[in-house]
Amino acid sequence: MEEILKKSAAQQSKMIADKEITATELTECALSRISEVDEKIGAFNSVTREIALETAGKVDEMVAKGEELPLLAGVPLALKDNMNLIGSKTTASSKILENFVSPYNATVTQKLSDNCIPIVGKANLDEFAMGSSNENSAFKKVHNPWNLSKVPGGSSGGSAASVASCEAALALGSDTGGSIRLPASFCGVVGMKPTYGRVSRYGLIAFASSLDQIGPFARTVEDAALLLEVISGHDSHDSTSLNLPVEKFAQHLNDDIKGKKIGVITDLMTDAVSEDVRKAIEHAVDVYKSLGTEVVEVSLPKLKYSIGIYYILATAECSSNLARFDGVRYGHRTANPENLIDLYCKSRAEGFGDEVKRRIMLGTYALSSGYYDAYYKKAQQMRKLVAEEFNEVFKRVDALIAPTCPNTAFDLGARTEDPLAMYLTDIATICANLVGIPAMSVPAGFDSDGMPIGLQIMTPQLAESLLFNIGYQFEQLCC
Ligand code: GLN
Repeated sequence: MEEILKKSAAQQSKMIADKEITATELTECALSRISEVDEKIGAFNSVTREIALETAGKVDEMVAKGEELPLLAGVPLALKDNMNLIGSKTTASSKILENFVSPYNATVTQKLSDNCIPIVGKANLDEFAMGSSNENSAFKKVHNPWNLSKVPGGSSGGSAASVASCEAALALGSDTGGSIRLPASFCGVVGMKPTYGRVSRYGLIAFASSLDQIGPFARTVEDAALLLEVISGHDSHDSTSLNLPVEKFAQHLNDDIKGKKIGVITDLMTDAVSEDVRKAIEHAVDVYKSLGTEVVEVSLPKLKYSIGIYYILATAECSSNLARFDGVRYGHRTANPENLIDLYCKSRAEGFGDEVKRRIMLGTYALSSGYYDAYYKKAQQMRKLVAEEFNEVFKRVDALIAPTCPNTAFDLGARTEDPLAMYLTDIATICANLVGIPAMSVPAGFDSDGMPIGLQIMTPQLAESLLFNIGYQFEQLCC
């Protein structure tokens, strides 16, 4: 592999500006890496060679003219295949959208294009972002670059694997219950979910709209902070987008964190956590103590309800969001329907995979009359209580830490027959989505099989700069 692909996005972008490499050369390099290794990894559903090279060409023209380059211009990026990129296929890894070509750009995609960031391909995911292992893709599985017999985590498994295997320096994913942080932890990269509303969801194929957020993957905390700066900002196309100025999230990375108070979530350090993960988190505690922070234990007793709350709310929202895939407006249409109802039923039966159908059925049930109050309304009430508990704790500590996942990447196929075991993979990540706070997974060492472990850090809403600061300080000392 060309050494340059191993460099951070910040370094790659400096090399382009310093004329040590052209953006076209760098993009070609990433594209060759993809054709070399992706057959084994399966990170990409499609490669967008022409689009990437056209963008890279623009960067080279700017360099030739001596113009100042936008942030991260020319650095290859993988886009999760549930975000629209005009003129390319956006499949959400579903048969129902197998041949769907985006008629417009998602807001994040437009921002990448405005900053001349070459999009090298559309990254594989669990169908409609529903899953924790990327085994729910209708097309192919993603293999963990650290050990090809293991899962990369999901649902943004392709995004995480592409960054871990240096097929791209950066990637975007979406996180509804952990889909950025979990695969980041399994693949040994940085993955970050912003505050709800920080990044526009316009052009992201909706799974559960009150929980979905787009966020960055990178190999360093600094790169993740820079990419968040590129994609965040108010957007009138998304009514939940926050009307706040875009911050320079990388500005405070080097701030001294001495005197800050960090809470370890004891409810996420139970016996369910593997020995190696526990040791890694204990090591993180020591690192933070050595940086002069005060580390305290905190308990969030309502956190244990998060999985139950999530699987009612997320499925309810998905049953409604996915109603638009009816065989009439988007994607797959059955061949010979007998009538309109038959067209709806057969198109959806043929187009959706098992997990998506399971979620639609669960969600429809939770929303149906007679059950709405018992399930959906109760889950909404509980969500509020979990949020209140977090807000209370944030009066006492600046940040929270926990494992991103109780375990490291498991073998392909190990949990596919047991949906409940699969759902429990997200025990530590879902709460940040319910509460709407920013959270990040940072590499924190390896288990005895050599698989990466992730440390999860959470801060109050809108405290992304602090989150990156705390993550960066750990990253410098951890491994
Ligand atoms: N694994 C969780 C699920 O299956 C979260 C998915 C996500 O964040 N998109 O729903």
